[in-house]
Formats: sequence, structure tokens, C-alpha cells
Amino acid sequence: MNTQNSKAAFAEAIKHIPGGVNSPVRAFNSVGGNPLFIKSASGSKITDIDDNEYIDYVGSWGPMILGHTHPAVVEALNQTVLNGTSFGAPTLMETEMANLICEMVPSIESVRMVNSGTEATMSALRLARGYTKRDLVIKFEGCYHGHGDSFLIKAGSGALTLGTPNSPGVTKGTASDTLMASYNDLDSVLDLFTKYPNQIAALILEPVTGNMGVIRPSDEFIKGIRKACTDNGTVLIFDEVMTGFRVAKGGAQELFGITPDLTTLGKIIGGGLPVGAYGGKKEIMDCLAPNGPVYQAGTLSGNPMAMAAGLTTLRILNETPDFYAKLEEKANFYVQGLQSNLDKLGFPAVINQVGAMFTLFFTKEKEVKNFSDVMTCDTELYAKYFKLGLEAGIYAAPSQFEAGFVSIAHSEADLQKTIEASFDALKQLQ
Ligand SMILES: *Cc1c(COP(=O)(O)O)cnc(C)c1O
Repeated sequence: MNTQNSKAAFAEAIKHIPGGVNSPVRAFNSVGGNPLFIKSASGSKITDIDDNEYIDYVGSWGPMILGHTHPAVVEALNQTVLNGTSFGAPTLMETEMANLICEMVPSIESVRMVNSGTEATMSALRLARGYTKRDLVIKFEGCYHGHGDSFLIKAGSGALTLGTPNSPGVTKGTASDTLMASYNDLDSVLDLFTKYPNQIAALILEPVTGNMGVIRPSDEFIKGIRKACTDNGTVLIFDEVMTGFRVAKGGAQELFGITPDLTTLGKIIGGGLPVGAYGGKKEIMDCLAPNGPVYQAGTLSGNPMAMAAGLTTLRILNETPDFYAKLEEKANFYVQGLQSNLDKLGFPAVINQVGAMFTLFFTKEKEVKNFSDVMTCDTELYAKYFKLGLEAGIYAAPSQFEAGFVSIAHSEADLQKTIEASFDALKQLQ
């Protein structure tokens, strides 16, 4: 495979961009080599600047659930741009967006738009602190909630991949307000509530993890944390930036039948443009300025381009009959194919899947249910598998600790080709 142009582009990029990338997960540090520079994308495929085409399982890290350049999204953007791209004043689309979010995710009674998932989680935490008049927050090892200071403690995603789960630059004071629990370990949570009575403002989690790879919460765990938060007057925040509109129309909370107090959204909600949102109980949301004293603002928040792409995407998800059943069918086909590859070869690995997100963990463990299990993975083996995939025209995340995604645009032929490429790669790695 010729990637000369990407190599040259990377050499140019590193001159004036730290590491040559605007987000560390895009670097190929953990798998070796240079990142590919992408020229265009359509449906399930992306094309690099050397004209290599790949079947895409990254989907811009989650947003592209309809596939790339969906005609309705492109049309909405084309129409919107002609009317102006930002006014700093209310528009009708923002109310339509809020109404649709509240309809699709019933725990959300009131919602504020922001510009990224990071902004959503930072703001939700400030709001929870303002509402409860408490300082402490519980998060889980390996969960990623964007790059806000309070969350860069034992964080997942690129922080984990690049070995900096505790980032320098976060003050000791901030770090000491973040309490750490272990995923799928209810006792680790209850112990913190006992140790810090009436001091914990919020508990935040990925209700299905994606940023240390896909892990499903046990029933006991997810119900137990809901009860613990209610008992202790703690705001339960579901960070559904990845799982929202992904694992079900109403997100993980619909899948598990749990009602969080606040929800953070991002990725799919922007349809490929920069958007985040946070919302929940009206009583809590009413603490936000201008109604209440908790301050949060944004020059470009709710801007027309982002609303156009997001609204168009959400409407399609909401109105297409059986959208999620069809999407899950694709994911099931793919995951079953991968599983049968493992079985045929007797290859030790674990596949976790929830809806249209999944991770193939290169571990000899029998199951992966928390951060310690994730840490048993052979990341060098993953790197080799990733490279063989690229050569076969498969674009997966350049890290073991991420979720893969299928979009509605992935055809059976795409998935079959990928299953076969995976078989060949695994066979070589045996
Ligand atoms: C991606 C992600 C974020 C951060 O969103 P950005 O838009 O990258 O700031 C936060 N939480 C979760 C669960 C995510 O997957």
C-alpha cells in the first residue's frame, strides 16, 4: 500500500501542530507509523490522500451513524449556510433541537447546547456542584469524559493509549476533588459514599464504556449506583456522549431502564459538526444562568450549521422505522463473524458488544468487565492486527482501548470483506 503522500503531509504537519494532530487519538503512536491524511469520505468508506480506500470503523469516533456525507445532512448544511452561520441570538432550530432531544431522551426535560462533549461534561459537573453545594465527584477508572481537569484522573481514550491517564497541569486541589471507583464494582462506590457523607455532588459514568473499549455494566451495578445516588442526594450523570443515539434511540438509559438526573451528549447529536449538550431534570437545569447562579455560556453554542446537521441526523434516527434494529443486525453480523474467526482458529480474545459499538480485546482473560481486565490486553498484538487491517483496506481505531462502530451505510459486503480480512490477519498472528 502506498502512503507516500500521507507520510509527506505528516512531516509537514508536525512542524507547526503538536504531534502533527489536533487530537492525540489521531496519532499512530501506540500502533507505530504515521497517521493517514483523509481526503474524503462517503457512506461506509474513507479515502486517504494517496487514494487508498478503507472501510471505516472509526466513524469520526462515533458521530457518523448515518455514514459519511449522507445526502440529507449535506443538503441541510447547503441550505443553512446561505442564511448565515452564526448570529449570537436565538434561532428556531435551537428550540426544535431541544424539543427533539427531550422527546427522544425522556429523562431530559431541559437542555443546553454547547460545542463539544468536553464542554458538556465540564458544565454538567459545575451545575451538579452548584445545585448540591458540594465539591466531590465520583468517576470510574478507565472512563473518559473529555479533557476537563476534573476528569483527567485515571482517564480512558487517548489519555490511556498514550500513558497519561493522570495529566500534568491538573492541580492537586482539583485532582483531590475527584474520587475514583472501579467499574462494575458497586462496593467501591458504596465505600466512597460511606467515607464522604453528604459531600459528593455527582457521580459520572459512561453507562456503557467505550473509551477503555466496550464494557457493559452489570444490572446490579447500574441499578445500585442509581439507588446510592438517590439515597445520598448525589446527582447521577450519565455521560452519553458516545452511547447517546448509538446503543438505542434513547441511549443507554433506555436500554437499561435507568433514569439519570443529568445526561451529557455529543458526537451523533452534531451529525459530524462540533456539538455537545447537557440536560436533565428541570429543577437542576434551572440553576443555570440566566435563570440561576451557575454560569455557563458559549459564543457559538447552538449555531445554525451544527443544529442543521444534528437535527437532520436525529430526525432520521427518530423517524426511520426499525433504524436501531437494522443497525444492530449489521453489528451482530460483524461481531458473530469475528467470533467465529476466533473460534475456528482457537485464538484467545474477547469481543464485547452493545448495539452498534464493540471492541475486540486481545487478552487471554475469559471476560473483560473492568479496567484491570482491560489492562491485561496485548497492545503490541493489537498494533500488528491494526496494520494488517489497514493493508487490507480496513480502517479501525489506532488503539486497543477504543470502541469500533458500524454505521447504517455499512453493507453486508463491507462487513463480510472485513470478517475475511480479520481471519487472514489473526491467522498470521497465531
Ligand atoms: C468523546 C467523548 C467525550 C468528549 O467529547 P469531545 O467532543 O471529544 O470533547 C466525553 N465523554 C465521552 C463518553 C466521550 O466518548
